Amino acid sequence: MELKKRTMPKELQLFSSLAPRFELSTKEKQTYSNLQKGYEGELMFDRIIADQLQCDYLIIKDLLLNFDSKDFQIDTLIIFPTIIQLFEVKNFEGEHVYDKEKDMFYKNMNYEIQNPEHQLSRAVTLLKRLLKQHGFQVNLQGTVTFINPEFTLYNLTPDKPFILPTQINSLMRKFNQNHSGKITNQNKGIGKKLISLHQSDYPIKNIPDYTFEELNKGITCHHCNSLSISLKGHYCYCRECGEKEKVQQAVVRSVQEFKILFPEEKVTKAKIFEWCGGMVSEQRTLRILKQHFQLLNRKRWGYYERKTASN
Ligand SMILES: [Zn+2]
Repeated sequence: MELKKRTMPKELQLFSSLAPRFELSTKEKQTYSNLQKGYEGELMFDRIIADQLQCDYLIIKDLLLNFDSKDFQIDTLIIFPTIIQLFEVKNFEGEHVYDKEKDMFYKNMNYEIQNPEHQLSRAVTLLKRLLKQHGFQVNLQGTVTFINPEFTLYNLTPDKPFILPTQINSLMRKFNQNHSGKITNQNKGIGKKLISLHQSDYPIKNIPDYTFEELNKGITCHHCNSLSISLKGHYCYCRECGEKEKVQQAVVRSVQEFKILFPEEKVTKAKIFEWCGGMVSEQRTLRILKQHFQLLNRKRWGYYERKTASN
């Protein structure tokens, strides 16, 4: 049973809203690409679990916790009846080397990258202590799962908690064999506790420096993210990929993008009209805002916030 879904990380949302509107630096492009790859890898792993895991389990996707003033993030956590399994999912591609002597990790033989085992063991230690503080003594195990079929790791010794792409299927079979029991109330209690401790409102790191004025305006394609959109009747059409989307949906999505990029700014009719590149008339923009958002100040400088519950 899924206790928490995975959603696109806020940082990735920000970069994908920004990319068609702003010239990212080489380093920012790299950050964006890493975030994208990381998220794709996590989704890939989610699909494998959904397809192959047949035993009784609880799953929490993308958990951000804090213990002792230290933040730690868990890509995937599975609660089996007798053990909790943590997964650090890595979508690395190409040849990598593990240097046991130095306990270091290299990409393309010589470029040093952070050893993912360190990240994993930190999360395992902190989670253990956090659960203990809440009265749960649990059996906890973690693995770094390399999801990309084109990943190769040299010098790997079997004592490392690394799962290679070729080992994932057999790992799933092993879980199915080893966990024949049923999820208990204690298991559910742990899951509930962890969800309640999840930090959903975290600050985004590595934000590029941009202003409203310097961003390209217009509606982006919901499929390919380009700004090559034409409007005809109730629909937006993408000249790049041919996808279409209802104007209403596209405007609502544009408002959400605006909110991600400018969390402090107020959503007004004029701002959104400009943000959408003047493609949707002010009257129509206002109609859509009224329908999907709540007017917070009824005076002249009224602005909108997303309607809750009813939407
Ligand atoms: Zn498109």
